[in-house]
Amino acid sequence: MVKIYMFIKIAGQWDEELLKANFWEQEVKAILQIPLASTHREDKLIWHYDRRGKYSVISGYMVACMKKQRENGMEGSSTQDGTSLWKKLWNLQVPNKIKFFLWRCIWGFLPSKQNLYHRRILNSPIHPCCGKKVESVIHAIWACNEVKAIWSLSPWSANRHEWRITSFKELWQAVIVVSSKKEVDLFAFLCWDIWNDTNNLLFQGRSLESVSMFNKALAYQTEFYSVNPAPICSHNRQGPSHSCVNWHAPLDGQYKINVDGATKLAGAQAMELIAAKEGLQFAYDLGFHDIMLEMDAQGVVDRINSNEECFEAEGNLVEDIKEMQGWFRSYSYNWQR
Ligand SMILES: [Zn+2]
Repeated sequence: MVKIYMFIKIAGQWDEELLKANFWEQEVKAILQIPLASTHREDKLIWHYDRRGKYSVISGYMVACMKKQRENGMEGSSTQDGTSLWKKLWNLQVPNKIKFFLWRCIWGFLPSKQNLYHRRILNSPIHPCCGKKVESVIHAIWACNEVKAIWSLSPWSANRHEWRITSFKELWQAVIVVSSKKEVDLFAFLCWDIWNDTNNLLFQGRSLESVSMFNKALAYQTEFYSVNPAPICSHNRQGPSHSCVNWHAPLDGQYKINVDGATKLAGAQAMELIAAKEGLQFAYDLGFHDIMLEMDAQGVVDRINSNEECFEAEGNLVEDIKEMQGWFRSYSYNWQR
């Protein structure tokens, strides 16, 4: 069995010649961009489909679904042209259950009448709301005349007639292009309500009240925003905005190190971690004993402060930093916007 350490010349350096002898040129370039730990580390298995490197049933299910779709000719959620499409989805400011619901809408994994009919679970694929058309996901949520009045109250009332949409994925792509962030969130809440409420109301013998359904989605969004406020400002690589500066003075006798990393090659998180390592090395070389390291990548600060073992691809760098802590009498890591 080939082990990674065989391709590492000394700690922190790939054996480039050996890599070239075993891999294609493009592969060698990609491997050389992977940052290595400063000291020897044992190999460990990580689940690279998950941001935290840990396996969960839901991430396993998603990978299996994507694999199946790729086999059927659709692109996966990590391909280049699909990147912004999925990025927008996972960055929505909505409950996770709604993100996962939209993800299933886009892949066509909802139990629509059309899907259940194809699986021979139902005898008819017809949408019970209108009693006319096949209930696909896009029909039930967007195209059916019975939900027209709800969308006429939304920011996309005009688009509903202009867009020639044939799938939910096309609808999602169109919505994220023409809408503000808050509107895209509202779109998600509306889709959730329409999918969950229309059939329920019909089952109870009640008619669809478009105004109350629209207001319900708006109220859900407002309530969610109040409990889960968005960050005051986003990460800005061009330089900090004055309204975002949140500088904390170091304590007496303590030295403060501000670090930031940016790259187009390695992952952004890896670069932030490398910057943190360089900062610690710099502080040690200057003979500082008490330090405060400050950086603008909150996720990286959380990883370093966590007592849990890091299973992400950059876990070796996190462990390096935790070992370097031992050089100092006192240390702390802070996130600065
Ligand atoms: Zn219908």
